[in-house]
Amino acid sequence: MPRPVRSEPCSATALPDAAWLRRIRRRLLAWFRRHARDLPWRHTRDPYAVWVSEIMLQQTQVASVIGYYARFLQAFPNIADLAAADEQQVLRQWEGLGYYRRARQMHQAARVIVERHGGQFPRDPETIRGLPGIGRYTAGAIASIAWDASEPILEANTIRLYSRLLAYRDDPARSEGQRTLWTFAAQLLPRQDCGAFNQALMELGSEICTPRNPQCPHCPVQQLCPTHAAGLQDEIPLPSKRTVYEELLEAALVVRRNDCVLLRCCGPGERWAGMWDFPRFPIRRPRGKAFVAEAVRQTAELTGQRVALGEHLTTIKHGVTRYRITLVCHEARWIDGPPDRDDLRWVEPSHLDQIPLNVTSRKISRILS
Ligand code: SF4
Repeated sequence: MPRPVRSEPCSATALPDAAWLRRIRRRLLAWFRRHARDLPWRHTRDPYAVWVSEIMLQQTQVASVIGYYARFLQAFPNIADLAAADEQQVLRQWEGLGYYRRARQMHQAARVIVERHGGQFPRDPETIRGLPGIGRYTAGAIASIAWDASEPILEANTIRLYSRLLAYRDDPARSEGQRTLWTFAAQLLPRQDCGAFNQALMELGSEICTPRNPQCPHCPVQQLCPTHAAGLQDEIPLPSKRTVYEELLEAALVVRRNDCVLLRCCGPGERWAGMWDFPRFPIRRPRGKAFVAEAVRQTAELTGQRVALGEHLTTIKHGVTRYRITLVCHEARWIDGPPDRDDLRWVEPSHLDQIPLNVTSRKISRILS
């Protein structure tokens, strides 16, 4: 069993011996054969489907991904279909899953695969890592699951699991910690079944070796775990810094002209780049004359349209990354403004379901329909 590791260089850490590694591999694979959850992406080794699942699962719960995964593969059954799609179609399929950059980068990567690799997903991990939106972890997961390539993985669940299996007491997010854990991940890999083994590691980290109250009595490697032996589960891994949330006040206007409402496409660098939104902007006050004047001015600055503010429609509280946002939504009447701009669209409310909207705009659209 490895002794607790402090921040010595990787070569000097008490990385485990061969017998310990063999026992871990055997127990973990046997446990996974019996306890693996039946998830849709575990029924395929198609690299495209594995890729879709891996990207969707980044920062997103399994339960949220299942429906999106099925619908996405139905809409774009293969790489060529994804590459040929319009970005708006891709974003519409991704709507509600968040982190829309993932969808845009997948779409770009599909086009690269078609242009440079004849539509075949590349097998070489280095080439996979060269695709937009794919880092070392995702490349390793795809190559190991699709082709059993001997590629290690390191993501949130395995960072925690490896830290505990090594009793690593320093910060695993720092470069020293990352080096140690990547080295350990490579040592852990068996000669074969690397795909199943990597999935078993993630499953154990997600279902048993949880951040709080890990289920050590049900853990297949409990007898091999130095953190359990030392009772240090609450101290390893070192807790990450707590997120400091920032309160924001914003307004969104449903600007009406005849039977249509105004939408604006978020530009590059904005929170929901590529998605459509009702005109939205930060404000200083949620009501009163100052609010009205500010909302009218900001709408003109953002869209070039002159409007008269109407009734309060709803107020939505939501969170985006480290922001807690109160969104005050009002009706507004269009007065005048320059004709068409590429980033603006007048849409009948009944057609809003064909357009990729961010989550709060979708909520507002449901009030309108
Ligand atoms: S014994 Fe407990 S702390 Fe150790 S790997 Fe298993 S669940 Fe995690």
